[in-house]
Amino acid sequence: MHRLALQDKVLILGGGVAGCAAAIALARKGQRVTLIEREPTPRHKVCGEFLSGEALEDLHLLGIDVASLGAVPIHMVRLAAARRAAEAPLPFSAASLTRKALDTALIAEAIAAGVCVEQGRSVQALARTAGNLWQATLDDGTTREAPTAFLATGKHDLRGHARPEDPQRWIAFKMYFRLAPDQAAELARASELMLYPGGYGGIQPVEGGIANLCCVVQQRYLASTGNRWEQFLAKMQQDCPHLAMRLAGAEPLLAKPIAITHIPYGYIRRTSEDGLYCIGDQAAVIPSFTGDGISIALHTARCAVTAYLAGEPAPVFQAHLRSALRLQMRLAEFAADGLNNGFARAVLPFCLRVWPGVMRVTAKLTRVAQHAAVAPMQLPAEI
Ligand SMILES: Cc1cc2nc3c(=O)[nH]c(=O)nc-3n(C[C@H](O)[C@H](O)[C@H](O)COP(=O)(O)OP(=O)(O)OC[C@H]3O[C@@H](n4cnc5c(N)ncnc54)[C@H](O)[C@@H]3O)c2cc1C
Repeated sequence: MHRLALQDKVLILGGGVAGCAAAIALARKGQRVTLIEREPTPRHKVCGEFLSGEALEDLHLLGIDVASLGAVPIHMVRLAAARRAAEAPLPFSAASLTRKALDTALIAEAIAAGVCVEQGRSVQALARTAGNLWQATLDDGTTREAPTAFLATGKHDLRGHARPEDPQRWIAFKMYFRLAPDQAAELARASELMLYPGGYGGIQPVEGGIANLCCVVQQRYLASTGNRWEQFLAKMQQDCPHLAMRLAGAEPLLAKPIAITHIPYGYIRRTSEDGLYCIGDQAAVIPSFTGDGISIALHTARCAVTAYLAGEPAPVFQAHLRSALRLQMRLAEFAADGLNNGFARAVLPFCLRVWPGVMRVTAKLTRVAQHAAVAPMQLPAEI
């Protein structure tokens, strides 16, 4: 009896983009889903908060109306390096929205879909029982069991299921600013990518009339600034005067930046164990400058749900996903290496100015391919 009752039960570990998307889709297909999220309520996350066209499509399918959440439409991309800057229209619709707002809406949608959401509970371990079930042990010592689990803990690895080390030792920061009025007007509806030795950063408007500065840097470069945010920020502005201009007179809105380490860019999970579908950053980690991580998280969640419902074993799903994402990931890595190269930093804005189409090509090549089985859908109207 107990085993029969467990048959259609699914455990989802992590209630970010991928975990919520999978939970909503499964619940709508009649599955009994328990989602475990360690934060009691959604909070700010390190993320550029750029929503690509593919992400907007998937969110729309899930019933998330980003316009009503205050998302800012993004029409333009600007690239700044050294003393040069160039801009080009984005070849697809895009928007920006704080992760706090997006994650809050996703959790609410999951609850509305009938998912049993346990917030404020951290999974400490995930292991196979003698009865071939997946057993999650929570921080209060209690356990949850199901034949199938979706691993969606994002940047955080679970013991026994960790991704490889990040040899470049990237560190990422996010800070919100209220820009001076003239700078806010100039930033307008653009996403600006800024290059400097050791990394890159992006600044773009988000809801509430504020701007998100999100940047990544290699540990050795950060060390040269004494591992201090204030000095690193000053050095970035010195190396990229465009950023100094944007931040002139800006007011920081968080007491200190949010930071994360261990970002294994280029990682794609090779395989998985029976009954364990790995999605989001636990499946693949694309270089941040593409602004496609959320889209991949939603895409991998959708593909995993389809695979699970079709009875495709998790190891087969994981291998299929790997081959589907490999080309996009390699191109994004190749482009990211270019951004970290001194010569490329010098010539890129010039190239973009004489051939704005290069942005369109790069953007297309580094996008996640939409699932062929998904019918074209209506994009949200002008948001
Ligand atoms: C610097 C940087 C900038 C980025 N900018 C962009 C961008 O502009 N646009 C874009 O599309 N992508 C961007 N990304 C990528 C994007 O943030 C991720 O790819 C996306 O959030 C992955 O979604 P996820 O669901 O896998 O993880 P998350 O959204 O991080 O969700 C994981 C969830 O699991 C929970 N969790 C973790 N451990 C446990 C545990 N033990 N027990 C229970 N719960 C747990 C966490 O609290 C979290 O809520 C960026 C990434 C970085 C590093």
